[in-house]
Amino acid sequence: MFKMKVMNLSHKASCATRDEMKIRMYVMTNPAVSFEVFPPKSVDASFRLWETAQALAPLSPRFFSVTYGAGGSTRDLTHDSAHVLRRSSGLPVAAHLTCVGASKSDTMDVAVNFAKIGVTDIVALRGDPENGADRFVPHKDGFENSCDLIEALADTGKFTIRVGAYPDTHPEATDQKANIEWLKRKFDAGADEAISQFFFEAETFLRFRDACVAAGIDKPITPGILPVTNWTSARKFADRCGAAVPAWVDEAFTTALRDDRHDLLATALCTELCSDLTDEGVDALHFYTLNRPELTRNVCRALGVTPQAALSDVA
Ligand code: FAD
Repeated sequence: MFKMKVMNLSHKASCATRDEMKIRMYVMTNPAVSFEVFPPKSVDASFRLWETAQALAPLSPRFFSVTYGAGGSTRDLTHDSAHVLRRSSGLPVAAHLTCVGASKSDTMDVAVNFAKIGVTDIVALRGDPENGADRFVPHKDGFENSCDLIEALADTGKFTIRVGAYPDTHPEATDQKANIEWLKRKFDAGADEAISQFFFEAETFLRFRDACVAAGIDKPITPGILPVTNWTSARKFADRCGAAVPAWVDEAFTTALRDDRHDLLATALCTELCSDLTDEGVDALHFYTLNRPELTRNVCRALGVTPQAALSDVA
């Protein structure tokens, strides 16, 4: 299957006349990009975050987003990383925020403190159940679910609110219909945009996008893209969050690992996924960088997203 896809690509390239290529280059509008990073927990990790920002800020992303550790474990680190990123890059920064293990007033205090440092974009999430539990149990004084949090944030009038969306269906949703109805409720509660969980085939996202439109959702849903820096962990992560792994992707990575071509395959597959999406009118992509900027930067370059300014120019 993978071989077939690569052959398709080379077929496209070899059959195009020079004029067709020119037209294709001309009509190709570069997608807007944004990048997710996570807050560092060690000095070494701080340098990795800094290198990631330095490598990716020049691509003029719409925003960087900074994750919130499971169970609110990185509350202060998320705040401080968002602050430093915002100050050093001059770019918009979105802070993630979950409802897990905190009262409503503590959660809203975190949001207010983000606003005080100029971080008025929030990725508002319910969060995963604590300590590997099957079901989310709200804190006794906390938000019941993501819609409650979104509504409270929207009521302040201070924030641009992004939320999670699940093209492969969230593991807790009874089916895709319920998954999409819930996403609609999040938009109705005040969300401005959704960012999707990662997925491996463009078709998965495009089908989901069509179903969302059919359900009456008219706000943007930006695909979340995972450049695979480590197949073994990506696979485990996919299993945990319910992203379906096609057999051909698994086989392709198994072979690439054996032949020491992992990064080459990861770059080719991710670039093809992104260009299939942009061919279908997707105009923004959100990359899960895992604070490893190389693959993301190479994919962006292949898509025509090139450096506009050095970080030092905007710092
Ligand atoms: P929701 O969308 O609110 O719920 C998930 C699903 O459960 C829904 O599709 C719905 O079908 C069902 N559901 C939930 N509540 C109800 C209800 N009351 N009635 C009916 N159905 C319901 N996790 C972190 O800990 N930190 C992060 O920084 C973080 N960042 C993320 C960023 C993105 C872009 C995404 C997609 C996920 C992120 N996550 C993060 C993971 C996220 O916390 C988990 O996926 C979590 O299980 C769901 O959170 P949510 O807000 O998207 O849930």
